[in-house]
Amino acid sequence: MARRRQLYEGKAKILFEGPEPGTLVQYFKDDATAFNAQKKGTITGKGVLNNRISEYLMTRLAEIGVPTHFIRRLNMREQLIREVEIIPLEVVVRNVAAGSLSSRLGIPEGQRLPRSIIEYYYKNDQLGDPMVAEEHITCFGWASTQDLDDMVALTLRVNDFLTGLFLGVGITLVDFKLEFGRLWENEEMRIVLADEISPDNCRLWDAKTGEKMDKDRFRRDLGKVEEGYQEVARRLGILPEAGPRDMTGPESMQ
Ligand code: UDP
Repeated sequence: MARRRQLYEGKAKILFEGPEPGTLVQYFKDDATAFNAQKKGTITGKGVLNNRISEYLMTRLAEIGVPTHFIRRLNMREQLIREVEIIPLEVVVRNVAAGSLSSRLGIPEGQRLPRSIIEYYYKNDQLGDPMVAEEHITCFGWASTQDLDDMVALTLRVNDFLTGLFLGVGITLVDFKLEFGRLWENEEMRIVLADEISPDNCRLWDAKTGEKMDKDRFRRDLGKVEEGYQEVARRLGILPEAGPRDMTGPESMQ
C-alpha cells in the first residue's frame, strides 16, 4: 500500500493525510523530548501506549459531551482524527503544585492548590512556549474572547472528569496540558479538544505513594519510564492484550 502523504512531523507525533477530506492520521512515535527539545530520547512502546491511553480518555470525554477531534484508533500506533485548525495555545490546568509552578513561584511540589489554576502558553518552539495572559491572546488574535470562554468551560469539565476517573484507579491528576482546534461544520465553527491526553502531557502520581507515572520519569532521569506509562494503562484496564510484547511490535499494521 502506498504510504500516505506526510503533512507534519512533531516531537512525538506525525500527521498524515487522512483517507477522506477533513480527516488526518495521527501517528504516535516513541521519541521523547523535554526542556524545549534540549533533552532527547526514546521510550520503548510509548507511542503504542499513548495512542491507546489517548483513545480511551478522548472516548470517555466524548461520552460526557466534550467534543474532540478523535474519530477512531486505526492500529497500534495510529488514530484517525478530524482535521482542525489548531489554536496556538497550550492550556495547562493545575490541581497540585509541580513543575514550572513550583520552580517559578517557590510553591512546594506536592502542595494541593486551594482551587484549580488555568494557565496559557503560546505554542512557539523558537520562543520556548512562553506563558501569556488573556490580554496577549486576544490582542494578537490567537483566539477570541468567545473562543477562550469555550476553551475554559471545556477545560474545567475535562479536569473534573479526569480527576475523578484517575482517582478511581488510585492516581492523582496533578496537572496536564490541553490543545484545542477549530472545527467547521456547515459554516459553523466549534472549538474541540485536539492533540492527545497521555502521560506525555499529564502529571500522574500514585495517590498513596506519590510515585510518578508520567514523563517526569524521563525529564528527571528517574528510570523505569516505560513501566510508568504501562502502569497507567494497566490501571485504566487498557494494557494492550498481548501484554508488553505488543508494545515493540510492528510499527504500523492495517
Ligand atoms: N506540558 C506539556 N507540554 C509542554 C509543557 C508542559 O504537555 O510543552 C504539560 C506537562 O507535562 C505538565 C503540565 O503541562 O503536565 C505543566 O507543565 P509545567 O508548566 O510544569 O512545565 P514543565 O516543568 O513540565 O516543563
